[in-house]
Amino acid sequence: MHKVTLIPGDGIGPEVAEAARRVVDASGAGIEWHVHPAGEAQMAVSGTPLPEETLDSVRSDRVALKGPITTPVGSGFRSVNVALRKEFDLYANVRPLRSLPGVKTRYEGVDLVVVRENTEDLYAGIEHMIGDYAAESIKLITRTGSERIARYAFDYAVANGRKKVTAIHKANIMKCTDGLFLDVCRGVAAEYPQIEFTDEIVDAACMHIVQRPEQYDVLVLPNLYGDIMSDLCAGLVGGIGLAPSANIGKDCAIFEAVHGSAPKHAGKNDANPTALILSAVMMLRHLGEREAADRIEGAVLSLFAGGERVTRDIGGSLGTSEFADAVIEEMSK
Ligand code: NAD
Repeated sequence: MHKVTLIPGDGIGPEVAEAARRVVDASGAGIEWHVHPAGEAQMAVSGTPLPEETLDSVRSDRVALKGPITTPVGSGFRSVNVALRKEFDLYANVRPLRSLPGVKTRYEGVDLVVVRENTEDLYAGIEHMIGDYAAESIKLITRTGSERIARYAFDYAVANGRKKVTAIHKANIMKCTDGLFLDVCRGVAAEYPQIEFTDEIVDAACMHIVQRPEQYDVLVLPNLYGDIMSDLCAGLVGGIGLAPSANIGKDCAIFEAVHGSAPKHAGKNDANPTALILSAVMMLRHLGEREAADRIEGAVLSLFAGGERVTRDIGGSLGTSEFADAVIEEMSK
């Protein structure tokens, strides 16, 4: 039995988490779930959005599946997602994005993986007011942080039969910070002669990716560009409702959908649970449960290819729980 902490989260989180949990349970992977709260709803109940018991459970299980968590804009508590990444030093955010059968988009043949540095950069939120006339944010990039994310991207490429890694940066302008990131990526690339290495300036990369996404393979980026680029790439393959992700550290890994808590959809049983189900597939592979992972992924792809037994956001008629039922039924065929 694998022990996994399940954090249902806010908004549509509990519904998509329940759908993913039922699908995983039906896949044959032996999972002992430890369900713990975090997020806005928990803040209202206990005065903290991230209770110590939840952290203890993740610490001891070392693997978690997490529903989306609301972050108040401007004021209020700091992002629980960022806090979890910091607490467990989850330095690699991995988002595989590929065209799915039956999901109509402007592109075909997209199959890329965004590897985003998850702990540094402007995203670390090291910022302050200067009096009341200005505000300053520090973009921190370290050699250690850049090296471990570059190495992760190349190791991922090797392990997953990928051919090319592209580092994305703005080193022409931010010569120190992005310059260091690029320099380290080049150094690591030299240790992987079997993998092609290229680099591109972030603005040009945005244009090229929407023009010809099929030419990209593994992308490695500092935190903020990675955050933006991964949503852009999710848009190329049918939207954030379909995109899974993993946050990987040395001792711990947390798997979650790319989308947020979509409060408008909460409690309506109309959210698409695919992103969290595919995040669970990534989790099962991380746990070595390859057969169960393949079974779930195969069932999801076959429902997508059929085009009818899918959720409303992608042209079907099923609700969240009915889609989970359909995946479970498809797995048993
Ligand atoms: P969102 O992803 O929650 O929703 C944007 C829109 O995308 C929704 O209105 C909906 O139309 C669609 N959508 C998203 N997920 C869907 C799904 N599974 N099925 C069908 N449609 C779906 O983004 P937002 O509105 O910018 O953010 C809402 C909250 O979520 C914010 O508080 C934000 O901070 C938080 N958030 C959390 C995470 C996380 O927990 N990792 C990630 C992103 C945003």
